[in-house]
Amino acid sequence: MLQFDQVSKSYPGGFVALERINFRIAKGEMVFLTGHSGAGKSTILKLISMIERPSTGRVMINNIDLSRLKRSQIPYVRRDVGIIYQNHRLLMNHTVFDNVALPLVIEGFTGKEMVKRVHAALDKVGLLDKQRCLPQTLSGGEQQRVGIARAVVNKPPLLLADEPTGNLDPELSRDIMRVFEAFNQVGVSVLVATHDLGLIARMRYRTLTLKQGRMINDGLMPAPGVL
Ligand code: ADP
Ligand code: ADP
Repeated sequence: MLQFDQVSKSYPGGFVALERINFRIAKGEMVFLTGHSGAGKSTILKLISMIERPSTGRVMINNIDLSRLKRSQIPYVRRDVGIIYQNHRLLMNHTVFDNVALPLVIEGFTGKEMVKRVHAALDKVGLLDKQRCLPQTLSGGEQQRVGIARAVVNKPPLLLADEPTGNLDPELSRDIMRVFEAFNQVGVSVLVATHDLGLIARMRYRTLTLKQGRMINDGLMPAPGVL
């Protein structure tokens, strides 16, 4: 599904954010990405979501080499990647329904098919009854679930989450992770960037650990003593 092959990334000015990163995530796999602030987690997510390009090496999604894509092809590959942000980035003056519908509207869906898909996505995160609400009337955990519904509404095979539980208490974090597990169980690949070691320890999934731009561990737990 996803492959990093000898990927390095230097930012303008020469700062090396990632150095020779290698890993693969199979279809239907759920993986954590962890490391200190500045270790390179966001850079990895930006390379996958095609916001940044690698300086050297290859990032592949479904065997498509992202660095060889023409600009005009990027939107098509980007559809395969659903992104969940820490601060959810919802449109606060639009209803829950409209927020979730947005990716479909951009793709040209209208009418019954659009409504059906929005309802299916809201149902999966347990928020069908809130579709007419404005986001600010929802709790933090509910707002995060709206962000998840928006990310999955066009059924991407890969979900990326950047600190999705960063602003939530442990119980709500656990609820959000259960939502990811439910998508994972129907075959979606999930990559969750987080520095919440308690969460990682409780869930016991494969964990990639970054330190100063290098991958220092790939296993069931983060490398000991890194964080
Ligand atoms: P993390 O998500 O693990 O906190 P990042 O990937 O955001 O780490 O950042 C890795 C390093 O790259 C940091 O030292 C950061 O300051 C630097 N960095 C990130 N984005 C840029 C940028 N656009 N220009 C220059 N340096 C950057
Ligand atoms: P986040 O938690 O989303 O990584 P940051 O505050 O680390 O937020 O970064 C915000 C933005 O600034 C990101 O787009 C990141 O790439 C960029 N950035 C981070 N570090 C640097 C840096 N040293 N120089 C320039 N841009 C940076």
